[in-house]
Amino acid sequence: MDKLVKYNCLQDLKKVGSPIIIVAAVHESEAVANACKDSGIIVSAFCDSIKGKSQNLFCGLEVIHTPTLPDRFQKARFIIASQHIQDCVEQLTSLGYDEFYSPLELLENYSVKKKKHLISESYMEARLSVCRNSHKIYLEGGEKTYMRSLDVMITTRCGLKCESCSNLMQYYKDHKSFDHEKILDSIDIIKKNVDIISEFRLIGGEPLMNKAWAKIANGISERNPDCEIFIYSNGTIAPKDEQLESFYGKKINFIITDYGKLSRNLNKLEKQLTKYNVNYVTTPATYWVDCSSIKHHKRTVPQLKEVFKQCCVKYLYTLLHGKLYRCPFIANAANLNAIPDNPANYVDLFNKKTDTKQQIKRLIKVAKFFPACDFCDGRPYDASSAAGYDGKGTIEAGIQTSKPLPYKQY
Ligand code: SF4
Ligand code: SF4
Repeated sequence: MDKLVKYNCLQDLKKVGSPIIIVAAVHESEAVANACKDSGIIVSAFCDSIKGKSQNLFCGLEVIHTPTLPDRFQKARFIIASQHIQDCVEQLTSLGYDEFYSPLELLENYSVKKKKHLISESYMEARLSVCRNSHKIYLEGGEKTYMRSLDVMITTRCGLKCESCSNLMQYYKDHKSFDHEKILDSIDIIKKNVDIISEFRLIGGEPLMNKAWAKIANGISERNPDCEIFIYSNGTIAPKDEQLESFYGKKINFIITDYGKLSRNLNKLEKQLTKYNVNYVTTPATYWVDCSSIKHHKRTVPQLKEVFKQCCVKYLYTLLHGKLYRCPFIANAANLNAIPDNPANYVDLFNKKTDTKQQIKRLIKVAKFFPACDFCDGRPYDASSAAGYDGKGTIEAGIQTSKPLPYKQY
């Protein structure tokens, strides 16, 4: 499968031939499109598995909903800008395509400074650094263990109560406290046993509800100065000046979701981030893929493999209370005791009786699904498809519940 994606693309793509399509309509794709233009490569469109993206142009080009590509083009040449390279190749191969290119050669001499982008210069640099790392590791293949990102859960508290929160915050009644030293020690253990981690994401709940959030971000940054750190916030809390001041010169960024009136401190937060020169991107909460029900589906093994294959968050490795999981659903379902305890679902980083390196390898490279996937509706790239998915499809984001939702405890 790896060999299907070619590094050398300039010569091939300059030739007249089938349409050239960039996969997918993500921030870094704008740089890939610019690099194509500079090299005289004519791009026909972007494609993306999220249907909603096809309603608007992206960087002046049409966005085609990926499953509909065969209705338009019998043959096409794809430049994979997405970091989910293997998934993109598998999806496009199943649609009958076989010509794939990495954007690495194109991006070799790309200067972010010399171009204008929809996102800030430093945020584009951060996105491209993760994109380049993902493609390098993919093309190298081999035995290396690679985490594109590590989601570090630093709280299960949130000022909002979204009834369809994909991190399952709507089920929490009680909250265990988080020790910031233990979080940093857990990350050190993971780092020792993984070849590359490209980025860290601080998540919750609302990460700013952990009083030590800035200490944790600084701790991760000091131990991993080359890695980008993204803090995911809902705009309900404005940080203190000294907290933001302490990020000076560090690769710490904010990703903010705007929930309208509910994000009551959004303007204040944005002003402070601007004042202290901290990168941020704000995106409105519009639609989500329904994926937050916890129910035992009793699927067959082939069905479980399909749910996992279609899942778009299976690379969101999640750290929660000293255990490493494959996704935030499993992490929180296990933490809530909403699924039976099964060590196959996680790696206990502080268990001295097991070989942590081997266990992490199992989690990253070996598993074809996890027992916990049988309790999940699935979270497919294409929410309009029934393949490997039992949820309701696309739903309105951010609908609030007044009290925690009930669930079965094991
Ligand atoms: S804002 Fe909503 S979606 Fe985000 S963590 Fe809180 S409850 Fe979940
Ligand atoms: S299908 Fe499995 S990996 Fe994907 S979100 Fe559900 S539990 Fe996580």
